[in-house]
Amino acid sequence: MQVFKFGGASVSTVANIRNVGNILDQFRGEKILIVISAMGKTTNALEAVVNAFYNDRDQEKALQLFAEIKQQHIQSATELLQEQLPVLLEHFKTLFTETEWLLHDKPVREYDYYYDQVVCQGELLSTALISAYLNESGRKNEWLDARDIMRTDSNFRDAAVDFAQTGKNIQTAVIPVFKHVDLIITQGFIGCTDENESTTLGREGSDYTAAVFTHLLDAEKVSIWKDVKGVMNADPKLFPDAQYISELNYDEVIEMAYYGAQVIHPKTIKPLQNKSIPLYVKCFADATLPGTVIHNAPVKNLPPIIVVKQNQALIELHTKDFSFIGEQPMSDLYEMMAKLKIKPNLIQTHAVSLQLCLDDRPDKIEKLALTLADQFEVTVLKGLSLLSIRHYTNELIDKMTAGKEIEIRQQGPSMIQVLMR
Ligand code: ASP
Ligand code: MG
Repeated sequence: MQVFKFGGASVSTVANIRNVGNILDQFRGEKILIVISAMGKTTNALEAVVNAFYNDRDQEKALQLFAEIKQQHIQSATELLQEQLPVLLEHFKTLFTETEWLLHDKPVREYDYYYDQVVCQGELLSTALISAYLNESGRKNEWLDARDIMRTDSNFRDAAVDFAQTGKNIQTAVIPVFKHVDLIITQGFIGCTDENESTTLGREGSDYTAAVFTHLLDAEKVSIWKDVKGVMNADPKLFPDAQYISELNYDEVIEMAYYGAQVIHPKTIKPLQNKSIPLYVKCFADATLPGTVIHNAPVKNLPPIIVVKQNQALIELHTKDFSFIGEQPMSDLYEMMAKLKIKPNLIQTHAVSLQLCLDDRPDKIEKLALTLADQFEVTVLKGLSLLSIRHYTNELIDKMTAGKEIEIRQQGPSMIQVLMR
């Protein structure tokens, strides 16, 4: 058994959806659980619906924006389907109603709750459509609502998966389905609390869903189908001479992803690593290409891996009374960051000062700076970028930092990070 994941770009058009079918034809007879994202930019469009509903309190605008999303899905369905169309439209109707009911109410709970109830529709719609298309075109499959399987806590927008309960659900609701069908279609990115509220796992979370299923199904491997040949050592849009890498290990990828490479979601690796299951990044446009394998083996002779994370902020703290940055201020700081859900990208401490680099999220930074102002003099610098290079050479560092104003430089034997303007 194996797991496939198709991202939003791979299912953004009717032609791409047809290509999903072509790819699956090359795996006839194999049991595959297929995790799919929302079509194209649907998640962004649904975010706009939530903002109209919650921030602007403009019900009419929210419903109007939602109507556009409905229309786009109905349009794609009409192009892809014939006999299955009425059945799918019924399914769509149930899903639409779920959201429209909610949009007709006045918001009484927190933003993140409504976000998850609305935004999860993107994946539900795309998978309903693709499942119907595959069935109609002779690729027999069953559609499963991931919310009946993927149990999470109620930390909306960044929900944590309950592996024990999800594992039980897989035994009762997924394994038996594979007895009568080879293909199962389900959604990435979404889950459900034990109170039956929809949750999401964080933007770009479908890769993680695929990894959780892979882990709990004890699948042989997982393949993420992308619009690239495989993993590159740098973003080819920024570095025209970026190289393709055929083999990587978990450590390399988790570091790359954590520091901003758009390869796969950083949370994806852990569930795979725990069971030594290989991950393949495969080319959606040409399934015959080998892609990149990411596994548990030492990999030698890697080229430098370059990642640039833009839009970074640097917070500089200096204790007001010249007390040292000891355990207490550090633990206070970490507690605050945990509360605000801030993940630092880089930290540097000195005797009475500390520097913290993080993604520039103005709302969070403002809250953090305000709270810290009791203990510290706080300065915030913005508009920085964080360069991370694994397997660096001095020549490459010089080239990449030439003419830049450097704020922080941290260097170890296999990795260097430079925060610069
Ligand atoms: N549709 C979600 C997003 O755009 C999840 C994903 O694509 O992985 O963030
Ligand atoms: Mg995506």
